[in-house]
Amino acid sequence: MSRKVFSPLPANDQTCGWTQALPSRQPNVSLQGEQIADFVVVGAGYTGLSAARKFAQLNPNAKVIILEAQRAGEGASARNSGYLVDSTLNDGHMSDTGLKDYRQKYKLNKVGLDCVRHLVSTKGIDCDLDESGKFHATAVPAHTAKLERFSELLTELKLEHKMLDGAELEGRLGTSYYRQALWTKGGIMVQPAKLARGYIDLLPDNVQLFENTPVLTWRKQGDNFLVSTPLGQVKTPKLLMAVNGFMASAGVKQNRAFPLTLTASMTRPLTDQEYSAIGSPKPWGLLSAQAMGATVRLTQDRRIMVRNTAEVWRPINMTVNDIAKRKAMHCRGLQRRFPQLPVDIFDSSWSGVTCISGNSAQVFDQLDSGLLVAGCYNGGGIGLATLFGEQMGYRASGQMTPHIAMIEERPTPSTLPPQPLLRWGVRLRLMRDRVIARKEN
Ligand SMILES: Cc1cc2nc3c(=O)[nH]c(=O)nc-3n(C[C@H](O)[C@H](O)[C@H](O)COP(=O)(O)OP(=O)(O)OC[C@H]3O[C@@H](n4cnc5c(N)ncnc54)[C@H](O)[C@@H]3O)c2cc1C
Repeated sequence: MSRKVFSPLPANDQTCGWTQALPSRQPNVSLQGEQIADFVVVGAGYTGLSAARKFAQLNPNAKVIILEAQRAGEGASARNSGYLVDSTLNDGHMSDTGLKDYRQKYKLNKVGLDCVRHLVSTKGIDCDLDESGKFHATAVPAHTAKLERFSELLTELKLEHKMLDGAELEGRLGTSYYRQALWTKGGIMVQPAKLARGYIDLLPDNVQLFENTPVLTWRKQGDNFLVSTPLGQVKTPKLLMAVNGFMASAGVKQNRAFPLTLTASMTRPLTDQEYSAIGSPKPWGLLSAQAMGATVRLTQDRRIMVRNTAEVWRPINMTVNDIAKRKAMHCRGLQRRFPQLPVDIFDSSWSGVTCISGNSAQVFDQLDSGLLVAGCYNGGGIGLATLFGEQMGYRASGQMTPHIAMIEERPTPSTLPPQPLLRWGVRLRLMRDRVIARKEN
């Protein structure tokens, strides 16, 4: 295997509202000099942290190293919208094969969700976990048929749900913007950065986490991998790439997975007056019935989060100026829904990178002897990243599990067209989806 150069590297903004809400944390030292480890994980998001934790627990005498380019748990794992979903919106009317595939996808999501719920409750992770379900909503009369068909599918699968409209919906959400919403009982919300922080705190003593340590190059030499960072190098027989949106940057799965850059903004906590002006609803989380429609949340501390952009962006991360331009779209989204609130009460805006495949399938693979890769959760990665990470810990330990067997039954990512065709194609698709969802973002 030839030497791989890791490029581009992550360059996070420091303006993520979820992270800003946490107490400050001193970063761990960067890697310096030469090290040898039994297992090296690149990337300290939900996937990498879960894999390192599990491997270290299964192999208490092993030395595990995590290399994180920036601050641990502050990539997509801190920047997401915090929904853990079991069911995903589907147009309904499925053939027997379609139904079988949907059940399989549901089962995998549910195992991932249960995996997080179990960790949070048994380890006492404080992440504002909220079991109030999720809403799929539309503001456009023509799109309600999609929700009706989804309801039929959920009925067939015996999954608890309810259709809401009119005064009942307005009372629950505090906005009359939406025409109809389908609430599903399954679905958890978390404060994503708190969850990632919890995963860092769970790392066993035989895991060394190096932060601000980007992997610049890596290569195979004999039975080992040599992983180079700005000030050091690690030699290991087992290497896991857990870099999600930066998978193609690492030189793996370039023709199967690609990055998308999303932006979101979050308001300051609403004042008592503002909160009562919207009817003092309980916290909620809402996903649009349209692919490019806005994701909106009312949090436990009465903030409103709006995420309504997704783009193919080069070089992957956005600058503060790029984000400021997207914030105007978040403001418009907020005003449409809550005209009774002041125009700009966002106190944080950020971007984040997620990983997508052509057929929404995830990556869970062994590429070479000792080389593992997991990620590409297609926007639904909190539960799956935790599950896939843990299962990579088993796999790297040479253990087979029922969950690995279940993951391996899923479809694998389809082959993508080469660049620049891929970039152009995705941009066209996103443009089309944006037009369809123009009244929902
Ligand atoms: C705005 C947004 C909203 C989302 N909303 C949801 C949601 O509501 N629900 C849901 O389930 N999912 C959501 N997702 C997706 C979810 O956040 C991801 O699927 C999940 O965080 C993936 O975890 P991970 O550990 O695989 O990747 P990440 O958290 O991205 O971690 C990868 C890590 O690798 C590091 N890295 C990259 N390159 C290098 C290198 N060269 N050297 C060392 N380290 C490197 C990065 O710095 C990063 O910390 C959203 C994503 C975004 C961006």
